[in-house]
Amino acid sequence: MTARKTFKVAVTKDSLVFASAHFITFPGHRCETLHGHNYRTRVVVEGGLEPEAHYVVDFSELKRLMKQLTDEIDHKVLLPLENPKLQIREEGDSVTVAVQEKPRYVFPRIDCALLPIPNTTVEMLAQYLAGRVRRELASSGGVELQAIEVEVEENFGQSATYRESLV
Ligand SMILES: [Zn+2]
Repeated sequence: MTARKTFKVAVTKDSLVFASAHFITFPGHRCETLHGHNYRTRVVVEGGLEPEAHYVVDFSELKRLMKQLTDEIDHKVLLPLENPKLQIREEGDSVTVAVQEKPRYVFPRIDCALLPIPNTTVEMLAQYLAGRVRRELASSGGVELQAIEVEVEENFGQSATYRESLV
């Protein structure tokens, strides 16, 4: 019997950042005011080797993908579409946000990133980015990955990591 070989590849770069505005809701009725963070990301993928190149993934492909995903939400207001306490509606060129039916914000649509998550915590942002990375890498037809991990840091020393095992 031969052992299964797993390699782990990680990318953290100064370019894989996004500076965005957000607010989160807490249990009960509490809701933060709008504020911003300089978010940093780190992505880790695990898998076997591509037999000709002897890598798990091409670093340049992984960096390009993460740069694309972080650019999509850079300089945006991050809004969680699946938060039951928020009513987020697109109205023409605007997005209106109400908190428990009380109108609170109107943003230009172009300045918003409407995300399919229940709250814009670093946990949910990490899970969202990991899902995007998984789907993009699967559709590019590389090696079958065994795990994917994304870390999102919102302040120095304050981050969340989401890990998904794919086997
Ligand atoms: Zn915050």
